[in-house]
Amino acid sequence: VYLKTIESHGFKSFADKVTIQFDRGVTGVVGPNGSGKSNITDAIRWVLGEQSAKTIRGTTMQDVIFSGTDTRKPLNSAYVKLILSNESRDLKVDKDEVHILRKLYRSGESEYYLNNEKCRLKEIAELFMDSGLGKNAYNIISQGEVDQVLKAKPEDRRHLIEEAAGVMKYKSRKKESEKKLDDTIENLSRVNDIIKELS
Ligand code: ATP
Repeated sequence: VYLKTIESHGFKSFADKVTIQFDRGVTGVVGPNGSGKSNITDAIRWVLGEQSAKTIRGTTMQDVIFSGTDTRKPLNSAYVKLILSNESRDLKVDKDEVHILRKLYRSGESEYYLNNEKCRLKEIAELFMDSGLGKNAYNIISQGEVDQVLKAKPEDRRHLIEEAAGVMKYKSRKKESEKKLDDTIENLSRVNDIIKELS
């Protein structure tokens, strides 16, 4: 699987609709300081479901919406769309191309689309789990992060290896099942209380 295209309108400095094409191999992005190079990686993290405004260098999530300049009015929404080549079927969707879109309105309303159909963030997260992509995967290494990996505590480094080894999916399912089990135990205890009261 590889990233073919990023399309965006209204995300951070992308006041106009932009389409960035990537070829196979290495792509370099060059530009003066503050011209928006890092906004491209922020866009990738965001569309893959980033929930922390801080990670993408904002204070609130609405900070990703183009806030205007001296000559341009702010916009009311932002979207980022990724087009991934999936001829390898690494992503478990029976399509040669996978389209992922996230849109946010100033009102706070947020939408995700998978291949042009509205979906929940969970579906996108599951699709990418263990694919080496996804917002938590180490496919985006920002300035300073290499240092962080080297200085990381052993448990944190283990987390990184687990992600690469593909056990995160099972960990996340285990957590979900444990939560269901806890809920069921609680319900059972409530039922037992009611039985006691009635008998
Ligand atoms: P450097 O080389 O210094 O790291 P860069 O090319 O990576 O810079 P970015 O950090 O990606 O640049 O872009 C920062 C620019 O994006 C700033 O000019 C900032 O004003 C602009 N920007 C960020 N968020 C918004 C927003 N919501 N609306 C408008 N512009 C924004």
